[in-house]
Amino acid sequence: MPHATYLNVKDLKAETDAFKEEKMRQVYMDHGSASPVDARVIEAMMPYFDKEIGNPSSLHSAGRKARRELEAARGHVADLVDAPGPKSIIFTSGATESNNLALRGAAMRYKDKGNHIITTSVEHMSVMNPLKDLQKSGFEITHIPVDRDGLVSAEQIKNTITDKTILISVMYANGEVGTVQPIKEIGEIASDKKILFHVDGTAAVGKVPVNVEDEHIDLLSISSNDMGGPKGAGALYIKQGVRIMPFMLGGGQEFGMRSGSENIPFIVGMGKAAELARKEMVDEGAHLIRLRDRLIDNLLKIEYSYLTGHRTKRLPNNASFRFSFIEGESIILQLNDMGITASTGSACSTKTLEPSHVLIAMGLRHEEAHGSLLLTLGKSSTDEDVDHVIESVPEVVSRLRALSPLYPKK
Ligand code: PMP
Repeated sequence: MPHATYLNVKDLKAETDAFKEEKMRQVYMDHGSASPVDARVIEAMMPYFDKEIGNPSSLHSAGRKARRELEAARGHVADLVDAPGPKSIIFTSGATESNNLALRGAAMRYKDKGNHIITTSVEHMSVMNPLKDLQKSGFEITHIPVDRDGLVSAEQIKNTITDKTILISVMYANGEVGTVQPIKEIGEIASDKKILFHVDGTAAVGKVPVNVEDEHIDLLSISSNDMGGPKGAGALYIKQGVRIMPFMLGGGQEFGMRSGSENIPFIVGMGKAAELARKEMVDEGAHLIRLRDRLIDNLLKIEYSYLTGHRTKRLPNNASFRFSFIEGESIILQLNDMGITASTGSACSTKTLEPSHVLIAMGLRHEEAHGSLLLTLGKSSTDEDVDHVIESVPEVVSRLRALSPLYPKK
């Protein structure tokens, strides 16, 4: 009896799925949402889970060893952003906490000087929401619009400053559309007017050179996972002499700015990731830009496809698009079935079916913003990965358009 006679439909499906899983090329292009931890970072972290377990506040040798590791990691993060000294780096649980600490901390500390804060309309929710909350307690928030490319105008920020302005907060780069903002220009204005300047550096630090002194940044939020370190770790750079109000009170760790026993394994991991990023950023950037530009040049050959974000003032790992007449969610589900992991935009906003506030702020209509596809590359991305995407996206787009009543059939 031939084997196939015994195979029922369920078995056949399982066999086909297993075959597909085994054979299908898997391509990960969602590094902006979550990045793999570099193997060298994992190796550096491992001893601190079970062997090197001292608390840096303890006086014994195990504690002193932990203190040395903590300070070494601080040094690596400081070096990555050209901070003048390690003491200006505070470790946190991630970029969200760093943004909250910077914004609330600065607002509370300087509230007697003024109540006006300037930001942009394309910030991440971990900036938008703390500012919304501050608004409820009497702060006035001005959201500066962006142009079609997602760029904010430094001049417009300058013209919005009043004698009540105490803080300007602008992201270094937008993770969703890749646009890099004119940070140095804004920093010079803020420094001239003696207004605190906070920068959400999450999507940029470790990918493009950031220099806090040269760019006149007073507060910089940094994420570990976005540069190949573990999730659940982050840092806030606070310029020496700038005082902000801490909100995590307790044993006074992290120079009193963020109490709680330090998460040594994760901090060691973040430090290692920063050390590697500093050494490898230039070469890695060149590799990413080449792959990014192959994606952009080839996917823009698709009819009614558009790049979102600035063409050149752009993160090396970001290729973001919109396709008319179809929905981003359908694109990523179909790509998923072809072994490609991609995104429609910020992982933090995909739970809602609302179009991205970033694309809307860039002047797109709701139906245009719904057709977004975000591809974010990482250090392990290859030309073969890009080939697979370049072959698969046109196929998915034409399949979906064939079903779309909006698509003008020829
Ligand atoms: N800011 C920006 C620009 C982001 O893209 C993100 C998300 N990666 C965050 C802040 C928040 O980061 P996390 O979720 O790691 O706290």
